[in-house]
Amino acid sequence: MPEVKDILSKMSSPTSQDRELIEKAFTFAKEAHKDHKRYSGENYIIHPAATAKSLAELGMGAKTVAAGLLHDTLEDVGVSPDTIEKEFGKEIRFLVEGVTKLGRFKYRGAERHRESLRKLLVATGKDVRVLIIKLMDRLHNMRTLKHVPEAKRERIALETLEIYAAIAHRLGMGSVRRDLEDLAFEYALPEEYAKTKKLLSERSKETLERLEKMARNLRKELAQNEIKKFRTDYRVKGLYSLWRKLKRKGGDIDKIYDIAALRIIVSDIADCYRVLGIVNNLWQPLPKKIKDYIAFPKPNGYQSLHTTVFTGDGGIVEVQIRTEEMHQEAEYGITAHVVYKEKPGAKNEESGRSSFDWIKSLIPSFARRKEKADEQKSRYSTLEGPEWLEDLTDEDDDPDFEMNIKTDIFTQRVFAFTPKGDVVDLPAGASPIDFAYAIHSDIGDHVFGAKVNGKIESLDTVLHNGDIVDIQTRKSAHPTKKWLDFAKTTIARRHIRASLEKQI
Ligand code: MN
Repeated sequence: MPEVKDILSKMSSPTSQDRELIEKAFTFAKEAHKDHKRYSGENYIIHPAATAKSLAELGMGAKTVAAGLLHDTLEDVGVSPDTIEKEFGKEIRFLVEGVTKLGRFKYRGAERHRESLRKLLVATGKDVRVLIIKLMDRLHNMRTLKHVPEAKRERIALETLEIYAAIAHRLGMGSVRRDLEDLAFEYALPEEYAKTKKLLSERSKETLERLEKMARNLRKELAQNEIKKFRTDYRVKGLYSLWRKLKRKGGDIDKIYDIAALRIIVSDIADCYRVLGIVNNLWQPLPKKIKDYIAFPKPNGYQSLHTTVFTGDGGIVEVQIRTEEMHQEAEYGITAHVVYKEKPGAKNEESGRSSFDWIKSLIPSFARRKEKADEQKSRYSTLEGPEWLEDLTDEDDDPDFEMNIKTDIFTQRVFAFTPKGDVVDLPAGASPIDFAYAIHSDIGDHVFGAKVNGKIESLDTVLHNGDIVDIQTRKSAHPTKKWLDFAKTTIARRHIRASLEKQI
């Protein structure tokens, strides 16, 4: 049985108020889920407790951790949002409702749904804490996926790869992305998983021994160069990421130089460049493989210096050099920044509805960085300039995803659901009429009524993110002139006009 102290012990310096809140949420969740079991047969509380624990480990504040404990109480056991608000306040209600809305989506594999979900996640994730809770929820579900009925596993695994790992990547949460991908890989593509795993284990022993030897030589060399504060670390490439790269390289593992990488973590940026010089002096670097992600961070904010070197004994190894801060950021991404939000006096403390603040605060700086990089690129393009500039876009990145997020921020969209969970993407201010026409013109032309979240609403109701809309049609129903007063989309307005003309 999980205990509240397992969560509290992972939190960084919780106040007595924080402790009380977590204890209360824990007791509440335990009681709410008491008749409820996981597929494994265990008590349900293990799941919200594990979610909350992961959130605490990420350094999230007490409200987010509490929301992690409560995240399944609305949908699964029918606690009302008002009760959550009464017991825990508006902000926690907002977080719990946000996570619940994200959970309503069902992945159906088609490209358009994938796009819609990405947009939906951005739109619903007005507060990035909602996304972070959802990611930790998914992480625990993936860790326990083997207990889920087989028929469901593949869908969940694909959804994890296509959506949640992509979101984690976008938020710069490298370690979460890696975990989600590798957990999902096994269920989404079992044969490829087994093959890649075998390949990696054959290679990694040799590679790790080589890294060990390099690290020993390097430590000596750094000491001689009076670089005192540093540590070394290794990272083995995630299986899924290795598999994707293998596909791009025609299956030839000898062409992949970053199966394992040597990491050197130093105290400041100046030392990063000094260490790069030392490394490239000690081992022959490969041409075009020196990458300066400090001056030119990746779109998701990743910073490091990379160089790939011949080790002299037949091996080729990637070396990554970064500061401790860059390291934290690469592993935990945005969570390194959001914690401040819960400190007393932070803006929008109560409602949590800081709209697009978090993403706005990220995007312009990424856009600027990219502009700067592009500018440099064009300046050098006519010259023989630094070759790494050509390599600015990492092949692991998904440029489309970034584009979509960028455009979404500037155009307000509303994402509503059909009762089956399909997403309909509409402009802000859209009505059930727009929703109906977005599904099919035949449905639009015969709207008789609309239920929004189970309640009958008038046709001029403004839809909100996450609304479930059930359109009722009747053969005898037809568009009226009044519909033009509130129909927002071009497609709806065109069909309404066409139908009105026919009626005359
Ligand atoms: Mn859950």
